[in-house]
Amino acid sequence: MAPKWVWFFGGGKAEGNIGMKDVLGGKGAALADMTTLGLPVPPGFTIGTGACTLYNRSRGKFPPEVKKEIAANLARLERAAGRKFGDARNPLLLSVRSGARDSMPGMMDTILNLGLNEKTVEGLAGKSGNPRFAYDSYRRFLAMFSEIVLGIPKGTFGPLFEEKKLERGAESGVELSVEDLKDLCRKFKALAKERVKKDFPQDPLVQLELARDAVFRSWNNDRAAFYRKSSGIPDDIGTAATVQAMVFGNMGDTSATGVGFTRNPSTGAREFYGEYLVNSQGEDVVAGIRTPRPIREMRKQFPKVYDQLVRIAGRLEKRYKDVQDFEFTIENNRLYMLQTRPGKCTAAAAVRIAVDMVREKLYTKEEVILRIEPRQIEQLLHPVIDPGAVADVIARGYPASPGAAAGVAVFHADKAVERAAEGKDVILVRKETSPDDIHGMDAARGILTAKGGMTSHAAVVARQMEKACITGCDGIDVDEATSRFMAGGRLVHEGDYITLNGDTGEVILGKAPLIAPKMTGPFGTFLSWADAFRRLAVRANADTPRDARAAREFGAEGIGMCRTEHMFLSEARLPIMREMILARTTEDREAALTRLLPMQREDFKALFREMKGHPVTIRLLDPPLNEFLPKREDLMVEVTKLELIRADRSLVEEKKRLLARVEELHEFNPLLGLRGCRLGIAYPEITRMQVRAFFEAACEAAREGLRPMPGVMVPLVSLAREMKDQKELVVQVAEETMKRFKRKIPYTVGAMVELPRAALTADEIAREAEFFSFGTNDLTQTTFGFSREDSGAIIKSYMGRHILEEDIFATLDLEGVGQLVRVGMQKGKSTRPTLKAGLCGEHGGDPKSVDFCHRTGLDYVSCSPYRVPVARLAAAQAALRERQEAKAGRK
Ligand code: PEP
Ligand code: MG
Repeated sequence: MAPKWVWFFGGGKAEGNIGMKDVLGGKGAALADMTTLGLPVPPGFTIGTGACTLYNRSRGKFPPEVKKEIAANLARLERAAGRKFGDARNPLLLSVRSGARDSMPGMMDTILNLGLNEKTVEGLAGKSGNPRFAYDSYRRFLAMFSEIVLGIPKGTFGPLFEEKKLERGAESGVELSVEDLKDLCRKFKALAKERVKKDFPQDPLVQLELARDAVFRSWNNDRAAFYRKSSGIPDDIGTAATVQAMVFGNMGDTSATGVGFTRNPSTGAREFYGEYLVNSQGEDVVAGIRTPRPIREMRKQFPKVYDQLVRIAGRLEKRYKDVQDFEFTIENNRLYMLQTRPGKCTAAAAVRIAVDMVREKLYTKEEVILRIEPRQIEQLLHPVIDPGAVADVIARGYPASPGAAAGVAVFHADKAVERAAEGKDVILVRKETSPDDIHGMDAARGILTAKGGMTSHAAVVARQMEKACITGCDGIDVDEATSRFMAGGRLVHEGDYITLNGDTGEVILGKAPLIAPKMTGPFGTFLSWADAFRRLAVRANADTPRDARAAREFGAEGIGMCRTEHMFLSEARLPIMREMILARTTEDREAALTRLLPMQREDFKALFREMKGHPVTIRLLDPPLNEFLPKREDLMVEVTKLELIRADRSLVEEKKRLLARVEELHEFNPLLGLRGCRLGIAYPEITRMQVRAFFEAACEAAREGLRPMPGVMVPLVSLAREMKDQKELVVQVAEETMKRFKRKIPYTVGAMVELPRAALTADEIAREAEFFSFGTNDLTQTTFGFSREDSGAIIKSYMGRHILEEDIFATLDLEGVGQLVRVGMQKGKSTRPTLKAGLCGEHGGDPKSVDFCHRTGLDYVSCSPYRVPVARLAAAQAALRERQEAKAGRK
């Protein structure tokens, strides 16, 4: 069968449908579907994505069949519209709009009012009886076509328009007369000719061809390519181009254009939400040039249309079972639908909507749990501005995208990228943003614009990027040229700190204090639903009581790993730790350890208190001792300097002694050296002190009426004999301590499996270990031979070349490292069927890795506190997917 390139819609019938987004793009598919539903959609046709791919591959050539199909569909469109394209008396005008499978708001190009020329503009004026409208459309077309199709730089025509407004004392273009607009059209055309050295194309068919090609080319413009990269959209799928009869929102006060959402995309509240702008066209609403009015006000201004729109939007939401983001035009009090698509919501909104939709019986709990991307909910866990803090609020705007963001103000997208690369948090401040600012928005923590509403470009993109954003903040006077803004009589320069409260729309001078969010409301409900489906337990990697508290608030069911070395890093403890390391004799070392013991015991006790009967698993000291000492090179410089200035001898000697010990402990590959259980074997007194502190804490906690569940992990085991050595020591000290306290507390001793040899000989190790915890950070490092500390650049370059698809230190390499985990599990269970197993590397908070853990039969994952909710949802999804697969397998 010959391939089809073009799909028609109009007069209640359409060739395409909503299932054809791959071919028709989201826009083309939705227009086809809305047409079939009998909704008021202007007729048109969609040139499919295949034509775009062909066009870009063949450097701008189409086979004759494509052109033929377009011509046939144009004729059909003329019949449906009852007007002819290029007709001098009653011209049909067209829009040519881009639309890919995945929505890429504002990234590609669109051309409106196509078909206007010196003759048709007069025809339009005569037929509509509204010459002002005709010439307003013409000046828009001349500028848009010149900038998008003829390649004249963006912003070339703006100054002429501004000049005209100034000349007339007009605040907006709406106040300009027909003569003003005619004059502008003349000037625009002359300027275009001067720039491209050719007359502006008058033939509507030529205009159509050029516009179609420009839309296809825009698939490859820089911002679209950047957007695809940051959103994971493939580069080779192309965009469709929809050619549609124009309807006009700029015909005067009975006309308007608008955009809306069926629910609030920022909070998820069930309210009709959006904006409209009277006497405007196309991009005016989202461009942020004139601030639009809330859609609620349409109820008074266009009551019938408003009711109709509410009905249609509700119907669309029910049909697609998702929040709808729609575009419409009112032409002389008649409503037309121009687009509908799933609304991009913030994470908070997505969760609230999911919970509401279960209550509205649109979905089951299982369905909504699978619909939310676990990564997305990380956004909900970001700190919020402390409501109790005194904040210096200097302006207020629309709370366009929630969350708190603090950073230095910058006024240009490139600058945002530059400062962010220097490691600064930045807030991009603009009068308004355009798609050309996309890289700066990506680099910024938050976005602040003086103009625009809740659906402006800045707002839509920020919500999608999950960044705090405030728009329409007319209290700030932005001067982009000098990189500063005024607000409430205060001047803010580039580099000054500001904080955005995206939940309230407040702009705060300086860095506001932030606190952890609360797990209440719909988010809490949603996660508790998820918990009911998961099998994997979720624990946290927590080293301090503060981490432990955050972990519990986020729903952790225990501490899967406490990296005990972090307890020695405070100012008070580090000197004692150094004393211990510098000690020449075991007695001296023990003396220092005895001083550390009560401190560590108090920390452990606090962990037991926070965990209220949930397991607390500590890991024996792991890092090489050098990590607690000053750097070798620094010490060398210091000693030389002290000698040069003939400093006090005893001080020089002390530093020299320190340097000598540092030299002794120096290793070329410290991560592969004297660390992990090798340390505990070399210095058993360290293990003894830690275990004693831990069990004294457990006994004291038990005395307080808590039911502690202690566990001890031995790090970096590769030989079963290492495990045996350390386990015997742990058991001996634990038993002694409990005897002293006259307590019997159940406890477990396990091995961290983080070296390939441990996984391969897991049967032997499991004879000694009651549980395994897969330390996949080290396991990845040693399986690949990639240093955890130094391989960032190589991995990035590998990802760029598609040698690696993902960062192996973030997402578990299932084929290699995953295989070792699988082997470790099988072998471990072969000698100890009751073996419990978890995973505590960074991967424990990564959804794909969590899915793997579920499928491999692990009992728990342990991750950083802030990722606990992500892991809870990922674990539920893993269980649900497995259930679905089992069902499908039975069928
Ligand atoms: C690991 O190696 O995966 C692990 C959890 O330990 P650390 O990151 O402290 O080496
Ligand atoms: Mg490790």
